[in-house]
Amino acid sequence: MSFDAHVCENGHVTYPGHTLCPECGAKQTETLDLSGRTGEVVTWTKSTATPPGVRAPNTIAIVQFDLGGEDLTDDYVRAVGQVTTEAVETGDAVEPVYAEELRDPEAGIKVPESQEWDGYRFESV
Ligand SMILES: [Zn+2]
Repeated sequence: MSFDAHVCENGHVTYPGHTLCPECGAKQTETLDLSGRTGEVVTWTKSTATPPGVRAPNTIAIVQFDLGGEDLTDDYVRAVGQVTTEAVETGDAVEPVYAEELRDPEAGIKVPESQEWDGYRFESV
């Protein structure tokens, strides 16, 4: 599995991906794997009233990955996701780490087999 941002032909990068680039309208034709990269926490929040199957408290961060020096138009991309622990501060360096279940498949409103439940969380480094 990979933690993919999406890239249009003009080098704009978004997470998550879109059918058409929100910046220029071109199709996003490539992906950029953010796993294995280190990002910086821009801001975070902790939700204590979560939907069924979502851990509580659920700490979520917006993380910025620097793309400077790469052959892209954007200098960075930001991604939102769960943090592995409750201990997080703005400015922390984090890496995406794989999680088998971001939510409990049995507690959702969808048939468990109908979608993927794994993904990435952010862990301080
Ligand atoms: Zn674009």
